[in-house]
Amino acid sequence: MKLIYEKSSPGRPGVQMSSIKITANEEIPSNYLRSKPAELPEVSEAEVVRHFTALSRLNFSVDTHFYPLGSCTMKYNPKACEAAANLPELTEVHPLWPQLRGGGLLTQGSLAILYNTERLLSEATGLAEFTLQPMAGAHGELTGVMMMAAYHKDRGNPEKDHIIIPDSAHGTNPASAQVAGYKVVTVPSDENGVMDFDLFMAALNEKTAGVMLTSPNTLGVFNPRIKDICDAVHEVDGLMYYDGANFNAIMGRYKPGDMGFDICHLNLHKSFATPHGGGGPGAGPVGVVEKLRPFLPISRVEKTKDGTYALNYDEPKSIGYIAPFYGNFGIIARAYAYILSLGRDGMLGTSNRAVLNANYLQEKLRPLFGVEYKGRCMHEFVFSGEVLKQYGLHTLDLAKGMIDRGIHPPTVYFPLNVPEAIMVEPTESEDRDTLDHFVEVMEELFELAKTNPEQLHQAPVSTPVGRLDEVKAARDMRLSYT
Ligand SMILES: *Cc1c(COP(=O)(O)O)cnc(C)c1O
Repeated sequence: MKLIYEKSSPGRPGVQMSSIKITANEEIPSNYLRSKPAELPEVSEAEVVRHFTALSRLNFSVDTHFYPLGSCTMKYNPKACEAAANLPELTEVHPLWPQLRGGGLLTQGSLAILYNTERLLSEATGLAEFTLQPMAGAHGELTGVMMMAAYHKDRGNPEKDHIIIPDSAHGTNPASAQVAGYKVVTVPSDENGVMDFDLFMAALNEKTAGVMLTSPNTLGVFNPRIKDICDAVHEVDGLMYYDGANFNAIMGRYKPGDMGFDICHLNLHKSFATPHGGGGPGAGPVGVVEKLRPFLPISRVEKTKDGTYALNYDEPKSIGYIAPFYGNFGIIARAYAYILSLGRDGMLGTSNRAVLNANYLQEKLRPLFGVEYKGRCMHEFVFSGEVLKQYGLHTLDLAKGMIDRGIHPPTVYFPLNVPEAIMVEPTESEDRDTLDHFVEVMEELFELAKTNPEQLHQAPVSTPVGRLDEVKAARDMRLSYT
């Protein structure tokens, strides 16, 4: 593909700049000014449009391809939610507008959306209160662990110094715990793929500030001993943190609050169908039980006696600001539209179907690869590419082969406790034809591995660039067009 820079032809500008003299130059320090004019390509408007449209088509996205990226919940983002969040009444408000009635009804509407979304998430998780401010799952974790620390400080529990996390956890869990100042104690998984209960009990003591648990975990396995774990942790005045990034698996069926968790973050950009990929914007709201309410970040959206909404900054025990203004408002508005469009039954239907689709694929692929864990999975499952080694191939080769066949590869080499791991999350969005097609592609690739492994070594061949040296690409990154 010829790049736009190569199509430039002098004297064929796509825009007509007016001849107004801009005097700002005089105020800009000379070391910030270009020494010579920027070399911009001169191309017609139509060519510019074609260039960017062609670039956008090189992308994989949920709108164009099956995207079973495990743990990332790349589900369909309904266009109706986009339309709702793009109403001018929502896109044209400014966070510094006055909040009270009279100052502008539009702002009251925005505050109502925040307030109502918090109530809906509280209902869905069984937790007393929510903050919508964190801007990613990891940011929500940090916010949650900071509240954990504030709680222990307030209780006069100075000896609390570590957080227990199972080895299958998402890497953000130990990172968040450390950033918040805690040591991390890692507990291995047992043969069923969940945190080993005896080793956990051995690690638990008076110094345990809390436990961060993901259930179903990254192997798609639900921990059957959650209640015992919660009870034991509460016994030492520890707090239970639920990593609810993958709430898709239990939405409408179980509530973390009912199971005994004290803190929970959700990823609106996963379970609640707001777009993600490429790093954002996201939203990682955090819910807490009643006893942690005073520690929530400010500001808090409150409903006053006369029915209007106001922001409260006066919370002396609050951990303070963790984000500018009120979080990623546009993302929250999309999730609000999504929740209202699903309703209670729709939420349950969503998680039921996500789990059904994952189990369907798991059983279809089991004879081919052997699946790590024997039982039923939740929203995702993990198998291993170890069988490919006899043909001199790895999981990576299988993943690259999928790209040529129009499928975004699943998550590979994660979780770390499974060698040559491949983690598949089909989500509820996909129909049976798509799932069957995926199985056919996997069978085809498996056959190819036996008969012509070299061809898989070469994949992908249909993309603008072929197999990359990934280490070199990360260490010696070239970010500009040359
Ligand atoms: C995605 C994910 C996270 C992190 O969420 P980000 O928004 O990427 O920061 C944490 N835990 C689990 C289990 C996840 O799947």
